[in-house]
Amino acid sequence: MAKLLEGKPLAEKIKEDIRGQVSSLKNKPVLASIMVGENAGAASYVKSQAKTAEGLGIEYRLQALPQDTSEAALLELIRKLNSDNSVNGIIIQMPLPASIDYKKISAFIDPDKDIEGMHPANIGKLLFGKAKLIPCTAASAMELINFSGIDLYGKEAVVVGHSEIVGKPLALLLLDKFATVTVCHIGTSKAGKLEEHVKNAEVLVVAVGRAGLIKGEWVKEGAVVIDVGINRVADKIVGDVEFEAAEKRAAYITPVPGGVGPLTVTMLMRNLVEAAKSQQL
Ligand code: NDP
Repeated sequence: MAKLLEGKPLAEKIKEDIRGQVSSLKNKPVLASIMVGENAGAASYVKSQAKTAEGLGIEYRLQALPQDTSEAALLELIRKLNSDNSVNGIIIQMPLPASIDYKKISAFIDPDKDIEGMHPANIGKLLFGKAKLIPCTAASAMELINFSGIDLYGKEAVVVGHSEIVGKPLALLLLDKFATVTVCHIGTSKAGKLEEHVKNAEVLVVAVGRAGLIKGEWVKEGAVVIDVGINRVADKIVGDVEFEAAEKRAAYITPVPGGVGPLTVTMLMRNLVEAAKSQQL
């Protein structure tokens, strides 16, 4: 039976470290958060960010803008925040109204304040293995893999899902640790090859958003399984991996909920403190 890789206790450990770093900063770090329009999911994420920030000694400055905010007005706000020396990091809450291009907005944020790690300059650093601001969900998955104690060198790592926020950055992070990385996506599934790749995985990370996509019997004996997926099925939240069958075969597995999820906000705060440290040099 697999050991559970739970996000909460790991998040608490990382928060201790963040608190220590915050206390050695000259000024209290400041996170500027921008939310456009009203969305229940974003509002709850903002609440959890604000609470985490407060517990770490970070100032959380929320700017809630109306739904009809124009792209130009949002760019102007970001320009101001970029040049405001009291602000160390900027986050844009999703979703944005359809009239606003997220890629354009995120590329406008000062890369040194891009605590989501999605600015092309930061993605470029990730490619060179030099990133300090790493996309939070990918960073959370890596923390959980490290927590399992597995040495990634030469291991078969399979990432299912190739999104820009999770699958692609994670593949780069795993490569950086000399894992042999296979990235599966919709094309892999359509070609009927997903099972074959998953069966090889000594480390398996799944970030798709389809309940039960990964059959428990595909999981290799002794594998480390990180399930990033979040799916609502009959009033329950489940991941992308068939948990009950997979936990009988894996050595380590993340529960859903309770695995990757509780770590992501902590990773955001770690990026913020990283940004503040380099800005205060
Ligand atoms: P996206 O929808 O951006 O990406 C999903 C990926 O899965 C795409 O690369 C897609 O390929 C691929 N895919 C779709 N169907 C299949 C299939 N049948 N077989 C193999 N690959 C497939 O989602 P995100 O990366 O943003 O998120 C993925 C999941 O992780 C979601 O459930 C999301 O809710 C969850 N999530 C959880 C977080 C947490 O904190 N725990 C944070 C962020 C996300 P293609 O694009 O080519 O179709």
